[in-house]
Amino acid sequence: MSLLRQPLLLLARSGQVKKLVSTMPVSAGIVRSYVPGETNESAADATAALAEDGLLVTLDFLGEDTLDAEQADATVAAYVDVLKQLSARGLTRSAEVSVKLSAIGQFLPEVGHKTALENARTICRAARNAGTTVTLDMEDHTTTDSTLSILRELRKDFPETGAVLQAMLHRTEADCRALAHEGSRVRLCKGAYLEPEDVAFQDRLDVDRSYVRCLKVLLAGEGYPMIATHDPRMVEIASSLASRYGRTPGTYEFQMLYGIRPEEQRRLAGKGERMRVYVPYGTEWYGYLMRRLAERPQNLSFFVRSLISKK
Ligand SMILES: Cc1cc2nc3c(=O)[nH]c(=O)nc-3n(C[C@H](O)[C@H](O)[C@H](O)COP(=O)(O)OP(=O)(O)OC[C@H]3O[C@@H](n4cnc5c(N)ncnc54)[C@H](O)[C@@H]3O)c2cc1C
Repeated sequence: MSLLRQPLLLLARSGQVKKLVSTMPVSAGIVRSYVPGETNESAADATAALAEDGLLVTLDFLGEDTLDAEQADATVAAYVDVLKQLSARGLTRSAEVSVKLSAIGQFLPEVGHKTALENARTICRAARNAGTTVTLDMEDHTTTDSTLSILRELRKDFPETGAVLQAMLHRTEADCRALAHEGSRVRLCKGAYLEPEDVAFQDRLDVDRSYVRCLKVLLAGEGYPMIATHDPRMVEIASSLASRYGRTPGTYEFQMLYGIRPEEQRRLAGKGERMRVYVPYGTEWYGYLMRRLAERPQNLSFFVRSLISKK
């Protein structure tokens, strides 16, 4: 793994650096390439543009780790509003939403689990009314059990709710087996957080091997796998496993992040694959951006330049 990955992921959780960096306007070069805008309108506009190119979308209203119930409520309201806007613009066939439970109250002392569940229920109801779905993002390993337990609760009323599993965690192959049942939407990603070695593979090759084992479980299973990676090797392996297991396009999908390998996104959509773009928006882009820089430290120099040019 890159030498810069660990310090960058530590910075992703630093409140002080966040304060300093977040004064940058979202239009600053590197931020803009990963985050199309700050408002619900800009998110709906970005969705419309991607949908025109035959791409599907999942919208993420940026924010995480809140300890403030009012902020959690504001995040829920933003999701409800953007779902209404998507519906009014006829975009819910193309777009769903992704939600981080830590942004809607999971870390509130004592009442975190209950609050996140109730808030997630409100968003799921709004999504269902708008004719679309919700996927629960997965955060660091300390939240996995709580997130999967909230998922189980939500799926009693909203079985269409999607889950995310991270191949870097040792537990994930078993979690894939548990979730590879009919109707179960599961996004498989490598994992974006700094994790200790007692719970996670540290070597990139081991993460990739785990990703392939998990792909096999999900593609051989009865559920709906959502293959989230920019890695050309993983995309190729997923495609050949999909045909080996008799999967036709439409019984699984690929997913990539906004601004990353956009030509590949269009190439896959052009050959008839379902291709969904994860579109983060809002002002709380700091943690998201730091995780993207940790994956691609080559981009750090652009980032530093945009910080300096602001002053
Ligand atoms: C749709 C989606 C949703 C996600 N949701 C979650 C989640 O809920 N929880 C979570 O922990 N993580 C999530 N992630 C992030 C994921 O865990 C990885 O951190 C991230 O996708 C990088 O891993 P990778 O599979 O792309 O492969 P990597 O091994 O990071 O990269 C492989 C190759 O992809 C290309 N590439 C990667 N990053 C870039 C870049 N920034 N710019 C240009 N090329 C690049 C390069 O060719 C690189 O060699 C999500 C990712 C996607 C695509």
